[in-house]
Amino acid sequence: MIIAIDGPAGAGKSTVCQLLARRLGYVYLDTGAMYRAVAWALEIAPGAPGKTAGALDDESAGKALERMELRFAIENDSLRIFYGQMPLCDELRGPGATEAASRLSRLPAVRQFLVAWQRRLAGQGGGIVAEGRDTATVVFPQAELKVFLTADLKTRAARRFEEYAAKGLEVSREQIERLIAERDRADSNRDHSPLRPAQGAFHLDTSGLCVEEVVERLAGKARNLA
Ligand code: C5P
Repeated sequence: MIIAIDGPAGAGKSTVCQLLARRLGYVYLDTGAMYRAVAWALEIAPGAPGKTAGALDDESAGKALERMELRFAIENDSLRIFYGQMPLCDELRGPGATEAASRLSRLPAVRQFLVAWQRRLAGQGGGIVAEGRDTATVVFPQAELKVFLTADLKTRAARRFEEYAAKGLEVSREQIERLIAERDRADSNRDHSPLRPAQGAFHLDTSGLCVEEVVERLAGKARNLA
């Protein structure tokens, strides 16, 4: 079974999807991490083409991705990302990679490259919980369960603030709220695969709910379909 969960930044997708996948014994596919990895490789890595050659257009990003040794794999039911021999993880979570991911995810060449990887990874068999912005609308339109997870902007900004504070990153609440609102706008208004609820998606507003409640509701839905 494929469960595809989309929604804006800070709606609680990552925590919920991770727990849901663990509960069901499914693979957890964080497609946002894949966009972050591409952004990191194209703009932030030592010698990245976006650093040396300046802002990348669609064609140059596509060509650079073909040449790059960026690789994705599923290990122990979760996504692993490698740049050459180097595993990528924490470097994908900083504000630089976040901003670059949102900007570069507009490019069709980047989306095509990653959608192909996402389908290949899902094709390895077993159940999968995929999360992102277009997993239910574009990547897995055949998903048995499609979910659109939201929360109001204040709640989402407060969650991000806690996450950043736990990592020792100093960003103000107001700044986070502004960055999230900007990212929502960019993700929802781009030409290719904008953030939209899929037709027939189950909408869930997580603002007043705890993680456990959300996971329980979604696990219940998945059980009913199995
Ligand atoms: O989910 P996360 O915040 O890690 O995603 C980072 C960025 O990657 C998003 O702001 C969005 O622009 C992009 N993204 C996307 N499609 C996806 C997942 C993420 O465009 N399926």
